Amino acid sequence: MKTLLAIDQGTTSSRAILFSTAGEILETCQKELQLFYPHKGWVEQDANQIWHDTIGVCEEVLKISDNEIAAIGITNQRETSVIWDRETGEPVYHAIVWQDRRTADYCAALKEQGHEALVRSKTGLLLDPYFSATKIKWILDNVDGVRERAEKGALLFGTIDCFLLWHLTGGVSHKTDVTNASRTMLYNIVEQKWDEELLALFDIPHSLLPEVYDNCHDFGHATIAGKNIPITGMAGDQQAALIGQACFEKGMVKSTYGTGCFALMNIGPDYIQSKNRLLTTVAYRLNGDITYALEGSIFVAGAAIQWLRDNMGFFDNAKESEALARSVDSSEGVYFVPAFTGLGAPYWNPNAHAAIMGLTRDSNKGHITRAALEAQAYQTHDLMDAFLEDSQMNIQKLRVDGGLVSNIMVCQMLADITGVKIDVPKITETTALGAAFLAGLHRGIYKDFDDISKVWQQDQSYQPELDKETAQKCLKYWKRAVQAVTLLSEI
Ligand code: ADP
Repeated sequence: MKTLLAIDQGTTSSRAILFSTAGEILETCQKELQLFYPHKGWVEQDANQIWHDTIGVCEEVLKISDNEIAAIGITNQRETSVIWDRETGEPVYHAIVWQDRRTADYCAALKEQGHEALVRSKTGLLLDPYFSATKIKWILDNVDGVRERAEKGALLFGTIDCFLLWHLTGGVSHKTDVTNASRTMLYNIVEQKWDEELLALFDIPHSLLPEVYDNCHDFGHATIAGKNIPITGMAGDQQAALIGQACFEKGMVKSTYGTGCFALMNIGPDYIQSKNRLLTTVAYRLNGDITYALEGSIFVAGAAIQWLRDNMGFFDNAKESEALARSVDSSEGVYFVPAFTGLGAPYWNPNAHAAIMGLTRDSNKGHITRAALEAQAYQTHDLMDAFLEDSQMNIQKLRVDGGLVSNIMVCQMLADITGVKIDVPKITETTALGAAFLAGLHRGIYKDFDDISKVWQQDQSYQPELDKETAQKCLKYWKRAVQAVTLLSEI
């Protein structure tokens, strides 16, 4: 049987998943990845570990399965940055992870100097430590001898896709794809090239950078367990999930509910700059034709349920939240704004703190838990509103995935509050599936997007059942709760 191997290198684990061409999972191997926190706000990983774990899980899968692997697709945690020696492959410093905030002051200074508008217009991003550019600059400026070596052309930079590709091809391919490039804050997504003005702004030598290609491309060949396999697909994790959810039409949205929530809306071939502090990013580029996406993130989604479990001891397992929430008829006016780490899109208030409001003497764990689940729907609604306003496109479909969508109540709440039909796919490993789709597309296993859309299968779907008036009333109170949290953050 022909198969496709997806490498899914995430923030907390490195995985290899073998898919049938019908999109079923045949084998999967995983290794947890250690994170290092050397100072407050710093988050690092050992890049060598990332490579060894990744090749390790691939070898494991090949050991178990003797199916023919037609191609490999790579998907990865985005923005995380590595610089390594072009001869030896040795990283000059740990990988600086997307969550790392060490360059916050530098970003603030650049904003103060008025550079954000330029960055935004070229990259679709906000001037934030999250993206690769200031992480690269930090390594160049702070690790002994690195800038000199970089200027001599002895070093290479890559996000994790690129770093893995380089190793998988024995140091032959120094390439990335356009979705990963679009998260570096150095790539001009309108002109579709590395931007010299931004390279000058961040003082980064061009020689460090990889070549940028479409998501389907002959990226090189990997030798794994003695087998020579072409690598023909690549995309950053959220874009891969959009593809894995077969959101190929304008107005289609995928939303992933894990610890946080990431939503991407396909906006088609025209670049739109958000007026609501959403990001504009590359959704995918095939045969040179670009498709853009709007992206919004909610910092705390499933983490609110974790908090109820770990800090409040409401239940032992996140799953039990559903039964507890169903133990009451409604949240009885209790609202939970889970702004534990500030508020993300479209509010962007880093100083906000979480709050539970509307409690009475009768309130119990059930009401609070129900309010935490409802918050998922309210936060999603606010994001969808921003998508709508920026794109002027109706949301056609909302396809959801991630750990939280095993909660039926949350899915129904999402439909009720957003007023949009919610689809849950059969294969919820959408990120890895997206990488496999891309690899298969390039090998002709799938002819086109229509072919892939036929492979994508719906498991459950949820129709809005709540009347519009009640939904509006709930949203009005939610908005007030967010306003209260915002006001408190200003004290
Ligand atoms: P991540 O990839 O960010 O680690 P996952 O996609 O594995 O996250 O989802 C895990 C999150 O989903 C956890 O925060 C957990 O609290 C939440 N979660 C998982 N199952 C449920 C459930 N049935 N009800 C509510 N929350 C859940």
